[in-house]
Amino acid sequence: MRAAVLILAAILFLLLPGHPVRGHDLVADEYISRYRELENKFPGTFYMSGNREKQKVALSFDDGPSPQHTPEILDILAEYSVPATFFLLGQEAAEHTWLVERIAREGHELGNHSYTHRNFTGLEWSAVEEEIRRTGQLIDDITGEYPRLVRPPYGGVTIGQLQRFEQSDYKLVNWSVDAGDYEEENQPEILLARIQLQMHPGAIILLHDGGGDRSSTIRILPELIEMLQDEGFTFTTVGELIDSNYY
Ligand SMILES: [Zn+2]
Repeated sequence: MRAAVLILAAILFLLLPGHPVRGHDLVADEYISRYRELENKFPGTFYMSGNREKQKVALSFDDGPSPQHTPEILDILAEYSVPATFFLLGQEAAEHTWLVERIAREGHELGNHSYTHRNFTGLEWSAVEEEIRRTGQLIDDITGEYPRLVRPPYGGVTIGQLQRFEQSDYKLVNWSVDAGDYEEENQPEILLARIQLQMHPGAIILLHDGGGDRSSTIRILPELIEMLQDEGFTFTTVGELIDSNYY
């Protein structure tokens, strides 16, 4: 499938110069330029990727935990001994605490993806705080560790909210590589081609283990891991990837 993926990546690139991918609701290059600006404006608070000098990357999974998909994803990660970061939705974590326990027990990192998946850009600060606190407390109750990494739903956050986050010890983490596995066009070859087109050292790769049918995500995972390992990348957690002390 590797050759097919490369050919498809080339076709996507030629057909849609500059706009090969949609990142949630923003076209990729708009997303990248807007969020790079925020990353520069809020160092230590807002991240979309890690150290670009090292051949390290992080897989991140949003919107779970999901009893349909998370166990299979954990099995694949275990088979390859690859760590990942799971940005959990509080309302899902509350329903499936055994999965939260399993993710933590298997050495993966837990992050906070809010309680109800409302876009922060439409919320008052007090509501944002409540979404994060409720989810963080729940994860702490289950695992004994309060997560400090937050991924805002849809990647949405306002400047005013970032200024508040700057005063806190939370770190907001979006992504630099978007598989688009939530799109209708999510056949395995398309997902791999999208990732291939965007890859770079220090990448934070956005995938989903919840929020819909994730069978394509599960299907590509072994090949994705092998493809990136063949290219010389090693996997780490988001927390380690963005931690300057780690290198
Ligand atoms: Zn989400």
